Amino acid sequence: MRVLVVEDEEPIASAIERGLMKKGYAVDVAFDGAEALEKAGVNHYDVICLDLNLPRVDGVEVCRRLREEHYNGGIIMLTARSSIRERVEGLDGGADDYLVKPFAFSELEARIRAIARREGGLREPILNTRGLELDPNTNRVKREGVEIHLTPKEFALLYYLARNEGRAVPQEELLEHIWDEHANPFTQTVKVHMNNLRRKINDGFSDQLIETIRGKGYVL
Ligand code: CA
Repeated sequence: MRVLVVEDEEPIASAIERGLMKKGYAVDVAFDGAEALEKAGVNHYDVICLDLNLPRVDGVEVCRRLREEHYNGGIIMLTARSSIRERVEGLDGGADDYLVKPFAFSELEARIRAIARREGGLREPILNTRGLELDPNTNRVKREGVEIHLTPKEFALLYYLARNEGRAVPQEELLEHIWDEHANPFTQTVKVHMNNLRRKINDGFSDQLIETIRGKGYVL
């Protein structure tokens, strides 16, 4: 799950960013409306958290343009209590939901999950395949009933592979969906996490669950 946080107040932006990263989301931040449109034009986001009161291009306008440019992920507006008119304009402009500031982080995360489910991002709340049980709501994994402890990143990798079971997923695609724009495509990031993930899920089992196909990627 990749999320774009659009918020010009840096402390709020970085608090949301940190919170979401801790939950295993890939997070990018834009500090004004123009930067948001730029990033959404280049990257694929599952959900955009959009402050309405922004420099350069305001949030309502960003929302309208995103939909015009056929962005079809979720949009959650972050608004001040007083701006009912803006909120209505935002919803008319294609936002899915809104939160009034100040809000609890857990509420934002619940809205993101709800939208992702609706958008089909998490079509199956719990995935069962190859003896694995993956619950994206709690990041819990079991193999043949035995619980395995994964980091949020490792879970996200495994869940992505499970959703694409049988297809070789290229490393670039994993970087695109599971990491944020600060990930360097030339580092060994994916490989390192993949090795740890493999070690954890294969430990004590005779068959290896994730295969590497040279030049193509990883396949479950
Ligand atoms: Ca603002």
